[in-house]
Amino acid sequence: MHDINFENHFRDLFENTNDLVYFLNIDGIIQLVNPAWLSTLGYKEDEAIGRSIYDFVHPDFIENYKIIRRDVILNNKTGDVEIPFITKQNEIIIGEGQLGCSYKNGKPIYTRCVYKNITSRKFSEKQIHESEKRLKSFFASAPVAVIVIDEAQQIVEWNPKAENIFGFTKEEISGKTLSETIIPGQYREAHNRGMHHFLKTGEGPVLNKSIEITALNKSGKEFYISLNISNVMIDDRWLFVAFITDISERKKTEDALIKKEAELLQSKLLDEKKDEFISIASHELKTPLTTIKAYLHVALKKCKDCPEEVSMYLSKMSQLMSKLTFLLDELLDISKIQLGKLNISPSEVDVNIFLEETLNSIQHITNNHQIIIDKNATVKTVFDPVRLEQVIVNLVSNAAKYSPGRDKIIVNSVVENDEILISVTDYGIGIPGENIDKIFNRFYRVDESDRQFSGLGIGLFISSEIVKQHGGKIWVESNVGEGSTFNFTLPLLN
Ligand code: ADP
Repeated sequence: MHDINFENHFRDLFENTNDLVYFLNIDGIIQLVNPAWLSTLGYKEDEAIGRSIYDFVHPDFIENYKIIRRDVILNNKTGDVEIPFITKQNEIIIGEGQLGCSYKNGKPIYTRCVYKNITSRKFSEKQIHESEKRLKSFFASAPVAVIVIDEAQQIVEWNPKAENIFGFTKEEISGKTLSETIIPGQYREAHNRGMHHFLKTGEGPVLNKSIEITALNKSGKEFYISLNISNVMIDDRWLFVAFITDISERKKTEDALIKKEAELLQSKLLDEKKDEFISIASHELKTPLTTIKAYLHVALKKCKDCPEEVSMYLSKMSQLMSKLTFLLDELLDISKIQLGKLNISPSEVDVNIFLEETLNSIQHITNNHQIIIDKNATVKTVFDPVRLEQVIVNLVSNAAKYSPGRDKIIVNSVVENDEILISVTDYGIGIPGENIDKIFNRFYRVDESDRQFSGLGIGLFISSEIVKQHGGKIWVESNVGEGSTFNFTLPLLN
């Protein structure tokens, strides 16, 4: 079948080598193949011998292979080739080796080929190439900054998001160290120490953890980042991959919140101190005041025959004493409200009688205003008349205080749905819109009124607590410079 003669040891080599060896005649017909070739491609000898080698070469490579072979035959030289063969199982095997030609009397008689099977190397190269491509596209599109540094701390990767966050381009920063660029002065030494410690001991307490720290951008501005560093060993050398997010905005909001919380706490503490002081002071004042009131009462009784001037002074004192008692009681109420002990003693009350009597008894609050009842509902309901009188005294006193130069205050009571609505209207300074929600808060006073009028900022707070405890609502409608109407409702209960 062929005229090739092998020495025994060459045959031994031919049969036992791992390399793929075959001989072709000039037309490319297989004359001889070794067992390594057959087993690698999955054929038996009789399935290969006598067939064209091109039946086994990947179709895309046939033309190329023919050209190389022709060149080898015509020019009597060896050719380095990389040939993809197709196995019987339709898989690709890549052979890398040499093609040579033998001549007899100057005439080419056969070509020989010796290949190494480099398929697995090729595939792993391909895989590496593909994973490199994937890694590159991950770097490019990662939504966080990805920075890679080597053992010498030099930056070897710097993705577009890092450019965006820090302002340095990849070209500007490559080969520089983090300490020279984005690590703020106060952390540099610790960073260098940490790196050396890790390279010496393998211990890295900050590795694979999320930490919040500051960094510098290109213009030297320090800002907050969230940082997670991982370490990977590649070719016996460590690489450190840092994933970074700019959290400066979040930090700003957090800082503002912390500041606000601190302020709130501060004002809460201040309020607590105020409450404590008010509670102690009002208790201390209440005792002598009650005694003075008793003496005054006795003096007024015994003063039937006193000169008119003296009894006038005594009744003035008595009026002022009532005012003082009212104020002290309000201060005591603050403490009671804080402790949830503001007691309500409800009874059935005629609203119109109650309103008339209350307003008559407090007309002395103001000398300049006439307190007018415009509408007065003839209805009975259940409430604590002492507490409700307190509310009305507060609203009417405010109406008088905050409408200097005006001459009337209108009070109405009407039945609406299942409620009784009581309102107190004045034509005074009014309340700016931005303060409307706050005036029922404890100790709150509108700045303007604070400067012109005396007061403690507790009357409306107590009034609203009393109304709320009766199951009602309290609110105000007001226009600056035109006046205010304070309304409150009480449920109609019979
Ligand atoms: P005080 O009058 O002692 O300051 P209040 O709790 O009664 O305390 O009132 C709280 C704040 O509401 C007042 O300081 C004032 O700024 C505003 N205010 C209350 N009533 C009126 C009113 N009728 N007209 C204008 N402002 C008012």
